[in-house]
Amino acid sequence: MDLFKLHGAGDKSDSEKRYAQARLKLVNEIRAMSRGASDYVPRPVSERVLGILAKVPRHCFVPEGELCGAYANHPLPIGHGQTISQPYIVALMTDLLELHKQHSVLEIGTGSGYQAAVLSELAGKVYSIEIVAPLAVQAATVLGELGYANVEVKAGDGSAGWPEHAPYDGIIVTAAAEHIPQPLLDQLKPGGRLVIPVGGRFDIQELMLITKDREGQIHRMNIEPVRFVPLTGGE
Ligand code: SAM
Repeated sequence: MDLFKLHGAGDKSDSEKRYAQARLKLVNEIRAMSRGASDYVPRPVSERVLGILAKVPRHCFVPEGELCGAYANHPLPIGHGQTISQPYIVALMTDLLELHKQHSVLEIGTGSGYQAAVLSELAGKVYSIEIVAPLAVQAATVLGELGYANVEVKAGDGSAGWPEHAPYDGIIVTAAAEHIPQPLLDQLKPGGRLVIPVGGRFDIQELMLITKDREGQIHRMNIEPVRFVPLTGGE
């Protein structure tokens, strides 16, 4: 599919149809990729999450100049030295959270707002924090325009979590932390799941799934090596 042609002649419904086709193609790629067992593919992404990726308009979250890559399976720059994550990683991290409509979820690193939109389709309430204020404003605007009414975005340092709305059933961190911030562990419900890339700025990081059991014990599982922009700010 030639996405450059999406912006040529033709009416809006025409281009929306082409975007929908491009989303399906991307979802098929992610499905195929996540079914192929390898050291780097820890588990197949669920059809439930793939269905959400087929629905959320990623092209609305990427800058004008990056539109031709909106449905390619790789990260894209969104300005301020930040990125919108690779769609496969968005799918995997979302799946690991095992969200339901009664759940409340916290995202650290709103970026473009795309991951928040995906979470919004699965959870009851999404709280998202972005340290770069103009990105927070832009993401909140796009999410509002698209009608993602259960998402609340604020500008700030997410390392401290968002205690006013804690505890959370799920927490997702979309920037790499040198270590897991204690406030995020504290703000996780018993039975809750935290997905976070851990590692240094110049290292290959490890995507980790942290679970808190009913007794409040923390369990850690390595999922796969990843490469994320760093979590900035401090606890
Ligand atoms: N989830 C985003 C999306 O869907 O576009 C992609 C996020 S990008 C890979 C990581 C984001 O984390 C960047 O926008 C960055 O500014 C933000 N970030 C880094 N450190 C942060 C912190 N301490 N608190 C909140 N956001 C932070």
